Amino acid sequence: MTERPYQICSVCVMDTSDPEISFDDNGQCNHCRDFERLLGTVWFPNEDGARRLDALIELVKSEGRNKHYDCVLGLSGGIDSSYLALKTHEWGLRPLVVHVDAGWNSELAVQNIERIVKHCGYELHTHVVNWEDMRELQLSYLRAAVANQDVPQDHVFFAGLYHFATENNVRYVLDGGNAATEGIFPHAWHGAAMDARNLNAIHKAFGSTPLVDYPRISFSQFYFWYPIVKRMTPLRPLNLMPYSKEQAVGELEGIGWRAYPRKHGESLFTKFFQNYYLPTKFGYDKRRPHLSSLIASGATTREQALDLLLEPLYDANELRRDRQYICRKLRIRDEEFEDLMNRPTHHYTDFDNWDRQYAMMKAVQNQVARLSGRRITRYS
Ligand SMILES: [Zn+2]
Repeated sequence: MTERPYQICSVCVMDTSDPEISFDDNGQCNHCRDFERLLGTVWFPNEDGARRLDALIELVKSEGRNKHYDCVLGLSGGIDSSYLALKTHEWGLRPLVVHVDAGWNSELAVQNIERIVKHCGYELHTHVVNWEDMRELQLSYLRAAVANQDVPQDHVFFAGLYHFATENNVRYVLDGGNAATEGIFPHAWHGAAMDARNLNAIHKAFGSTPLVDYPRISFSQFYFWYPIVKRMTPLRPLNLMPYSKEQAVGELEGIGWRAYPRKHGESLFTKFFQNYYLPTKFGYDKRRPHLSSLIASGATTREQALDLLLEPLYDANELRRDRQYICRKLRIRDEEFEDLMNRPTHHYTDFDNWDRQYAMMKAVQNQVARLSGRRITRYS
């Protein structure tokens, strides 16, 4: 690939660390321009959103009237899912709360989950992932040196959630995903966490033992079996309100939840991966798309974002401690970790993946949408 000169967007803080970024004559990038399209299609921070939210709550309540639960809620302990749990309680919904424990919960995350569940009077179902599987898969990913080291955690989170929902015949699955804080993300950085084909190929190439009971979702389960046969419907209610992190933290602290000192402080691995592995090895700073989303949604200014980007990603002592912890937990020596850090990088497309299947399905969906005038995807 030819090196392109450095450029940063004149409106947000995305830059040429995204190899596919493009700029118009005013220096504005494709990401924050595209964000405007989310308004009124995915994100409704207005009266229309309030109406849609009321209708959604009514629908979930009425369909679940004679059932033990009316929805499933995935709770990681992070700010988005914690806030959503608080809101579902206020709305009077009766979720089956599922936490998927992949082995990396911080102490604070465990405390926060306990506080939320207690405050809301919810029953918590924790699915503990087989640690030997997790370790084996995470080592495969580190050996593969692909950019998205969070796939083993993210995939099992949704696999656990969706399996649980369909097993218990609950149709609506709520998650804390939202456009306001994560609407901007460069697709060139990595592939889909739900792509089990890619996950299996990476493990086949770099794993040392087969996975025993790590739950996976296949392409046909994800796009056909769950949404069409089982009629499972994922919902993102935070997109139906003007979601603000500051306000969310304020409300959550009111019930004893405590904010994480660093983004994704709920998972020690995600924190280390996003603040050390990814920027060091790939030059990707995840604060950029996050802050750009906040600029585009009006929650912060470009000046504030640029200031925040000047702050170090890690405190040196904290980094040393976290690195030691991660090596100990993965049962590797520090030199082995250093060796993994120095491995040649791969792009996820160097391994078998579902991109072609996905493109074919999208083409069919778009054709149907054109003919029927309806959007038919269930995932946003
Ligand atoms: Zn931009």
